[in-house]
Amino acid sequence: MARYTGAVCKLCRREGTKLFLKGSRCLTEKCAVERRAYAPGQHGQAMSRRRKSSEYQKQLREKQKVKRIYGLTERQFRNAFERVRPVPGVTGENLLILLETRLDNIVHRMGFAPSRGSARQLVRHRHIQVNGRTVDVPSYAVQPDEEVRVAEQSRDLAAVRASLEALSRAAPVSWITVDTEKAVGKMTELPTRDTIPVAAQEQLIVELYSK
Ligand code: SF4
Repeated sequence: MARYTGAVCKLCRREGTKLFLKGSRCLTEKCAVERRAYAPGQHGQAMSRRRKSSEYQKQLREKQKVKRIYGLTERQFRNAFERVRPVPGVTGENLLILLETRLDNIVHRMGFAPSRGSARQLVRHRHIQVNGRTVDVPSYAVQPDEEVRVAEQSRDLAAVRASLEALSRAAPVSWITVDTEKAVGKMTELPTRDTIPVAAQEQLIVELYSK
């Protein structure tokens, strides 16, 4: 399945919640969820009023929501699930931890990009280094204490500077440290469910994929 390239605000409105796909705009009153809190399309308002709430629908919507937050295709998301399925522990939590440690997500969490989509672009365009080596694979699994930095020649990109300035006004997550001047950061430890600021009922996704 191809990556979704349509208007991302529609995805938030479809899920009925903010997925924070557009960087700083998501925090303003221009946010489409704030202005039109119903599903997109001609029948959006009616759909929102009589949204089905079967168990399957709840599980499906939760999976779609988390998949869209991290900007993955169905296949990528399913593959991520299959990777954590045999791992000891709580599968839903392990899935979120795997998604959080993707390089594109870490670049976003470090404040080098305002959204996961633009973080993915930075990675693909070879602006990001891990332990001094360029890594252009957005799904690269960052390990604790690996140094993630914006390549020196890319540090003055307007998008990177603007994003870092925005970050300096908001604290990053507790398991990440960032030197905004040098555009370099580290994941000091693996996140836990408590320290992942994503409002999701991941157990519903496990139930969906376990059918
Ligand atoms: Fe979603 Fe951000 Fe668009 Fe609001 S502005 S609808 S949070 S992508």
